[in-house]
Amino acid sequence: MALPPLVEPAAELSVEEIRRYSRHLIIPDVGMDGQKRLKNAKVLAVGAGGLGSPTLLYLAAAGVGTLGIIDFDTVDESNLQRQIIHGVSDIGTPKAESAARSIAEVNPLVNVVIHNTALDRDNVKEIFSQYDLIVDGTDNFATRYMVNDAAVLLGKPYVWGSIYRFDGQASVFWEEHGPCYRCLYPEPPPPGMVPSCAEGGVLGVLCASIGSIQVNEAIKLITGIGEPLVGRLMVYDALEMEYRKIKVRKDPNCALCGDNPTVTDLLEDYEDFCGAVSDEAQEAVTGSTITARELKEWQDSGKDVFLVDVREPAEWEINRIPGAILIPKGDILSGAALAQFPQDRQIVLHCKSGVRSAEALAALKAAGFKDAVHVQGGIVSWVSTVDPSQPTY
Ligand SMILES: [Zn+2]
Repeated sequence: MALPPLVEPAAELSVEEIRRYSRHLIIPDVGMDGQKRLKNAKVLAVGAGGLGSPTLLYLAAAGVGTLGIIDFDTVDESNLQRQIIHGVSDIGTPKAESAARSIAEVNPLVNVVIHNTALDRDNVKEIFSQYDLIVDGTDNFATRYMVNDAAVLLGKPYVWGSIYRFDGQASVFWEEHGPCYRCLYPEPPPPGMVPSCAEGGVLGVLCASIGSIQVNEAIKLITGIGEPLVGRLMVYDALEMEYRKIKVRKDPNCALCGDNPTVTDLLEDYEDFCGAVSDEAQEAVTGSTITARELKEWQDSGKDVFLVDVREPAEWEINRIPGAILIPKGDILSGAALAQFPQDRQIVLHCKSGVRSAEALAALKAAGFKDAVHVQGGIVSWVSTVDPSQPTY
């Protein structure tokens, strides 16, 4: 599906610009008109890290007139294996400033806007509204969902990319013309299931492979040429050297862009939505975690299990694991419900995805219930592996 150009053309190119961009100008599909659109374009890169590095350099070289950079981090030596916009002399410098210096060296005609801050729910809409297009190179699920939600709420297209070890993905999400990120991934993965690049590593050059797809799509959207990756997911396997395109449809049940949306504004807390766990909770679950299948085996074998659902009453109404009683997490953390826990039975906690039960487990263990365990992946895992007849939410 070809789409009209996202950006109106600038009035004219200077002699210097005509000289600089001559290899674009002689491509009939780009030409003077396309280059003027690039000049007029305002593109925001979310993150000046692995994906942001090649993205920003090539967008600058291509002649995108205004480039915004949002990043709150500083350059670290371990970044240099892949974040090629930064150098040794930039270590310790804010990434946004370091990236701006490199861009000025590549193309001083680009107007660079530095947002040396963390993107959050209070600034994301205001910052996004200053740009035609967003290029998302974030490395965590909380920011990823926030970028998607803000883009959909503002009606902005964005080019998404993600990388891990030897695998990369890229797509264009534009609610007006296709699916959003939530249509593809309605829920974040359970915490701990998908390690970050910091935990699992990433092949440095993978950033260039996926970043170049992102720039390619950005240029196509701005100039209105070719077939943008709207409604299609590009999946790249560097070891097999294989690119696959997968169709992604708009989900009528999408919580954000579906027929009956339940998400109508930014979430209060994306970290919470994505289940970032505290250090205490992380420590508590180590060696004290069972799977939903193991819970089922315990129950079937007649083991004396004291199963506690730590979710909220509204969630308890939607689905429940047979044999469970409801004690919301807050009552365990406050200590109010501790008297209800037996000393002589096997305590098993569960919640929706395993985050809240991990926190509750930390509180229980601190109160002396050393043998208590929790269910990995919570009732979501129970429904998917043990009892698919139950509804999910
Ligand atoms: Zn959607």
